[in-house]
Amino acid sequence: MPALFYLLSMHKQTWNQILAQISFSVDQLQFDTWFKQLSPVDNASSNVLTLQTHNKFISDFLEQNYKSLILKCAQSISADIEDIHFRFGNGAHPTVNKNLTDTRALSPDFIKRHTETSNQYKEIPASRLNKRFIFDSFVVGSGNEFARSAATAVAEAPGKTKFNPLLIYGGVGLGKTHLLQAIGNFIHSLDQGFTVSYLTSEEFYLEFIDAIKNNVAKKFSQKYRTSDVLLVDDVQFFSGKESTQEEFFYVFNTLYQNGKQIVLTSDLPPSSLKGLQDRLISRFQWGLCVDIQPPDLETRVAILKRKAEEDNLNIPENVLYFIAENISSNIRELEGVIIRLLAYASITKSDITIDLVQSLLKKTMDKGKSKISIDEIIEKVSDYYKVPQNHVREKNRRKEVALCRQIAMYITKSITNYSLKTIGLNFGGRDHSTVIHAIQQVEKLKDKDESILQDVNYIISMFKD
Ligand code: ADP
Ligand code: MG
Repeated sequence: MPALFYLLSMHKQTWNQILAQISFSVDQLQFDTWFKQLSPVDNASSNVLTLQTHNKFISDFLEQNYKSLILKCAQSISADIEDIHFRFGNGAHPTVNKNLTDTRALSPDFIKRHTETSNQYKEIPASRLNKRFIFDSFVVGSGNEFARSAATAVAEAPGKTKFNPLLIYGGVGLGKTHLLQAIGNFIHSLDQGFTVSYLTSEEFYLEFIDAIKNNVAKKFSQKYRTSDVLLVDDVQFFSGKESTQEEFFYVFNTLYQNGKQIVLTSDLPPSSLKGLQDRLISRFQWGLCVDIQPPDLETRVAILKRKAEEDNLNIPENVLYFIAENISSNIRELEGVIIRLLAYASITKSDITIDLVQSLLKKTMDKGKSKISIDEIIEKVSDYYKVPQNHVREKNRRKEVALCRQIAMYITKSITNYSLKTIGLNFGGRDHSTVIHAIQQVEKLKDKDESILQDVNYIISMFKD
């Protein structure tokens, strides 16, 4: 029963990918306690993921506390999953994951290789796009606007622009896969009958090797040569795989000659890709190569805002800035923060504050980010408002001094890790409730008065390196 076997192994594989996703969102202890021993149960509805555990307490706890997190992680792997059910029973089998002691270290591809044991030819479905990756959910900033424009142009007229192939390159977690799949999703949504194939270069490689083993290389080679749009993610993985490169070279040529659209992503510009044949590298450069740069502070805040809104999560502006200041390299990590906050907020029902974020994110935060001193902040804020620094540090009650002091306290809390107590001490020996009051005042003012909002954002931006 090859079809059934394929379904079952897909099932396990999908679950292990979901587990890996969850492991990024919770700490090791939570992961080991609640998730590690779960196993998926095959059921009639493919839209419901049923998870089984041997302990009723665990299944109840998960239902109450982690359902939305699991659903979110599951949907990021398979958009078809609409609901999660829990059940407990003695049949629960903790072995699905027995080789995976630390899924954090494992890529989905690794997991896939270690969970698939059949030597049957496993054809990858031509299109398995994640519905979440669309242009509308892609926040545009200076680092990615060119890539996004090129991607939109290609999606609107596949094969008809000069951007063929389009190659998008850039660092990890900056949105390459998102844009690539957005092209596919957009073309699908046009419903003009285009065949869109999306796959990673590793999948191309694995499928090719499988096809050879099973004597169906011809079938494989036909499959991608008949695509109207071929989207290949992470082409750097072709490195050193000579026969796969050979096969891809022919696929590329056939599609290109027939005016079909090719879009590729890679972690480096083609000229820096090692272990790739020159003829491939030169073809990758025939069309347009665009890079994605890490997002600036404002874009990071905009991305966080968007993600928080999508999850109905209310995160105060200062906390958004605090997160964006401290996590600057990778959008995937920004998302991870939102997922953690979502899990935390749904368990504790408490407000999201900088202190909370700080304690949840100890490990994720960029090292050294909070080394800005309170003196530097007082200096900048005093200069900006033309108020003597010593007045800000002392108990001067003049209105403009008080405002300047409140803003300095607010900024200190937003962009450093100092405790309320330390902040109070640095502003004329005030206690922590005065600092809280100052922060609340500034938050209110920012809501009411656009110029205060701009001042605060501007001063915060001066501390960006
Ligand atoms: P890459 O392929 O470059 O490693 P991804 O495309 O997988 O990165 O992006 C990582 C995560 O960050 C994804 O969930 C994606 O939706 C999100 N992301 C990346 N860039 C943006 C953006 N500009 N706006 C919104 N979300 C983004
Ligand atoms: Mg990617």
